[in-house]
Amino acid sequence: MSATLPSVCPLDCPDTCSFSVTVENGALKKVRGSKVNPLTRGAICAKVTRYPELIHGPGRLSRPLRRSGPRGAGAFEAIGWEQALDLVYEGFQRAIDRHGPQSIVPLNYAGPHGLLAGGSMDRRFFNRLGASQLARSPLCGGVRGEAFTGTFGNVPLMRPEDVAHAALIIIWGLNVTVSQLHLMAPIRQALRNGARLAVIDPRQTPIARKADLHIANLPGTDVLLAFALAAELERNGGLDRAFIRRNVLGAEAFMERARALSLTQAATACGVSAADVASLAALYRDRSPAVICPGNGPERNRNGGSGMRALFALPALAGKFGVRGGGLLMGASKAFPLTGDRLEGSDMIPSGTRTLNIVTLGRALLDPALDPPIDAVFIYNHNPVIVHPEQNTMKKALMREDLFIAASDIVMTDSVKYADVVLPACSHFEHDEIFKAYGQHYLQRAAPVIPPVGEALPNTEIFRRLATRFGFTEAPFSATDAALMDDAFDARDPRLGGRKPSEIGLEEAVPMTFGGKAAALFDTTFPATPSGKVELESAYLERTYGRRLPGFEPLASEFPLALISPASDKRTTSTFGGLDNGGDDYLEMHPGDAAARGLTDGARVRVFNELGEVFLDLRVTDVVRPGVVCAFKGAWMKTSTNGQTVSALAPAHLADLCDGACYNDARVEVAAAAPS
Ligand code: SF4
Repeated sequence: MSATLPSVCPLDCPDTCSFSVTVENGALKKVRGSKVNPLTRGAICAKVTRYPELIHGPGRLSRPLRRSGPRGAGAFEAIGWEQALDLVYEGFQRAIDRHGPQSIVPLNYAGPHGLLAGGSMDRRFFNRLGASQLARSPLCGGVRGEAFTGTFGNVPLMRPEDVAHAALIIIWGLNVTVSQLHLMAPIRQALRNGARLAVIDPRQTPIARKADLHIANLPGTDVLLAFALAAELERNGGLDRAFIRRNVLGAEAFMERARALSLTQAATACGVSAADVASLAALYRDRSPAVICPGNGPERNRNGGSGMRALFALPALAGKFGVRGGGLLMGASKAFPLTGDRLEGSDMIPSGTRTLNIVTLGRALLDPALDPPIDAVFIYNHNPVIVHPEQNTMKKALMREDLFIAASDIVMTDSVKYADVVLPACSHFEHDEIFKAYGQHYLQRAAPVIPPVGEALPNTEIFRRLATRFGFTEAPFSATDAALMDDAFDARDPRLGGRKPSEIGLEEAVPMTFGGKAAALFDTTFPATPSGKVELESAYLERTYGRRLPGFEPLASEFPLALISPASDKRTTSTFGGLDNGGDDYLEMHPGDAAARGLTDGARVRVFNELGEVFLDLRVTDVVRPGVVCAFKGAWMKTSTNGQTVSALAPAHLADLCDGACYNDARVEVAAAAPS
């Protein structure tokens, strides 16, 4: 029997596409795009067409498992659910008896982006348990999120669809065709209308090849580049002084920093041409509406918060807000009336509970001075071995024999292999779910399209059962999935039009509007900062991080090449990495850098620094600029000959805001691999 059913993409991607899936005899056969979501309009990326292999393939977890061999070897035996829940109970209880509930850490991230699987009953369980809190956003998005909050407050700025109205589009550290595919349609529309396109990226991404101007700055120099553009706008008459007077706080203090370097000095520090910076500033002065579309690239370094704040400042300084298609494409997740604390049961967190940073959790696991120490972790919605900086530290930490590890996932990942007990989780095709988005403004709901595979359970049910096993009888633990959906949003907010989220149709995408209109800063939405202005100087960021203004600190390293590790078009972070992905585990290097090292295209090379070494095939190409090498993130260990992937080379030092991850601060050397 065959049926075509609606669904939604749950992956860590801004687009949250609507799906139309074909199901035959209870099995997922095909995933296509549907037109339910007006932004994604039937188009999906190639990655998700492989969902049937992921859901029904040999790596799928379909029964609870108990470790039956050495830690990390991946040897398990099947057990029943009751026994598995007992094992988790006993492992956690041992930790509580030794060092209290804070010795337990939920090690989860953003595998599924649905609000139920992503963070609802699981959070309630760990909060009630009194486990350590985990700061997750520092791993990705938190740096720019904090920069945004400090500058604009909790407010959505514009919809991606409105980029179609821009006369100038600046794509900044965003590989659009891979990481925000559905921005391409409005960009193409704008280009057809005569818009100009500039791209700022150390790598010549596909969209950079279409650009009128590509500025390939060195990783981590975005703050200097944005300062240089601001100073040049001041010189070329491009500052909108009336707008600044009315709507911007701290412009003069910001400009003082922006003027500190001459155009030539700033361009040299960024590794770019001063003439290109001046050309971009002139374009920005002359063309309106002008929109800047930033990605996550500029946040992944020690100056990441400053880089984001400085580039956020440009549309405020040049008065680019307030017109359709102008300003800054950011803040989509602020478009939804979320009630995160209620969904997650934050009121159950015991006062004084510590918060650990996900970025440095590997170090925390090995820290003899940590009080209390970590005795147990529960890995779910996450593949920390592949994703975390300092991969070798995380691997060593998870090898601790005295650490109890529970894990839950759809498939046997490189991280699940370390677990003592494994709980099989349903994919979102197997449970009810509701989706906000972080790159568009539509609320969507999905229902199961296939029955659970084997004995897999939805995350909500796994944690409901664990709550029962621990004797948690309070009302939040008996909430149904529909009740959780309704808990996730403020039903009184006009954006929901009086509707219960759990009753949103499966073939509709509810647009979030403001006074009946789309978000547009200084038209339908306004800065939600303490001053009500765009804050280039931020008391909040000073209070929280000691960073009243953006600044720059150089990175010193004995290793000469900057290694960037952007998203692959084969995986969403590490999701789908367990499938045969057709091989994108290579290193891109500029011909000049290759020649200087006597390396040739196709050679096997050793990429190394003080943290680790990775062996990759070399691709000599001018896609990357001199001084920069590139290897895509998210490849699984099966692609590695020495048990290390590109995260092994990423440092664990922290960015200037949010204590965020600094993947693009990896500095490496590359040499020919010794013949095996
Ligand atoms: S990963 Fe992104 S582009 Fe691909 S289907 Fe999912 S939401 Fe759409």
